[in-house]
Amino acid sequence: MQTGQILLVDDDLALLQALPHTISLRLSGVEIATASSAQAALELLQQQEYDAIVSDIKMPGMDGLALMATVYERYPETPVLLITGHGEHNLAIQALRGGAYDYIQKPIDRDDFVMTLHRALHTRQLRRQIQEQQRALEQYALSLERQVEQRTHELAAANAAKDRFLDMATRELTLLRSHWLAVTQVFTHHLQQIDGVEKLHLEDMGCSIRRMERFSHELQDASLIQTDHLVLRRDCYDLTVVCQQALDESGAEIGVSVTCELPDDRLEAVVDRAKIIQALNHLLSNARVYSSCGAPISVTLRRVEEEAIISVYDQGIGVPEQYLLRIYEPFYRVPGVERNSPPGLGLGLYIARAIVEQHGGHMEVQSEPGQGSTFSIVLPLP
Ligand code: ADP
Repeated sequence: MQTGQILLVDDDLALLQALPHTISLRLSGVEIATASSAQAALELLQQQEYDAIVSDIKMPGMDGLALMATVYERYPETPVLLITGHGEHNLAIQALRGGAYDYIQKPIDRDDFVMTLHRALHTRQLRRQIQEQQRALEQYALSLERQVEQRTHELAAANAAKDRFLDMATRELTLLRSHWLAVTQVFTHHLQQIDGVEKLHLEDMGCSIRRMERFSHELQDASLIQTDHLVLRRDCYDLTVVCQQALDESGAEIGVSVTCELPDDRLEAVVDRAKIIQALNHLLSNARVYSSCGAPISVTLRRVEEEAIISVYDQGIGVPEQYLLRIYEPFYRVPGVERNSPPGLGLGLYIARAIVEQHGGHMEVQSEPGQGSTFSIVLPLP
């Protein structure tokens, strides 16, 4: 059953009476309104929208073409059918060019007419469905947009809170550290003569303070990285010398001899020397921490095309493949790993990678559980 509301417009009153009857007989469920002039039709259109309009073209005053143009201004989706006289092909073409859904020639073939009207009503129904789907889609897109906005806002707020926390924790740790350091120095001075358990306690306290100092520096660096405030002081350095300096600095802490393979010639790069040493020292420290006591560690520096590669090899516990991508995340530590020293914060690799990336380079890792790992710092060469 085709439902819909139809408006018939014709100054021929006989036709205006006959057509509704024709339509009602063939299309049940439709309502038909009539108007004997374009003006009267416009008044009806002020009050409601119709699903199809059928209008004679030639009418005194405003004609069907002008009526159609006015209808389309207000209801562009309403199909308009125009009735032309017999043989008025030019008018029919004009009607179609003006956007008429179709034209009907007089004398009207009733079956053809009703079929065309049926198609017009069906088209209107489809257009309405498309409009509704479009509106629903727009609503959905809008609600998605709002959700994204809200989530972004929440994330930004959470991020700002985390940055504030990092900043505050770092300042508190730094304060505590200097306080403890002062206290230990006083104790050490006054207790030069002590021995035994007291001395061990004092040494433990010194170790704790050094760990706290490391955490404080790591938190400070992480805070700078996350707020995009990590600044490099770059200059031209020979990387063989930089590597040697890192090995000298970390030698005492690592406690095992590190074999080292450096090129004979200078290998110059524009780097922040202290930061590259910091990153390399962290890799050396990890190599020791995640290897059994005394297991060999080695460092190599080589040039490969336009890059310098500093690699740290160990024969330690290695990293299972599923964790390799995560080890650079801040505060991430591989679960269930036993270390031969107290655990860190899981910030070291995050900081090392940020330093290297800030130089325009990248980090690489190859690891085999139970066999060992190779962590590499890859730096662009000038
Ligand atoms: P942390 O400073 O706490 O050790 P890192 O960011 O340096 O944290 O390392 C993250 C994780 O990566 C560590 O928890 C460890 O499990 C793994 N890891 C890093 N270096 C090595 C290595 N050389 N051998 C095995 N595992 C490693």
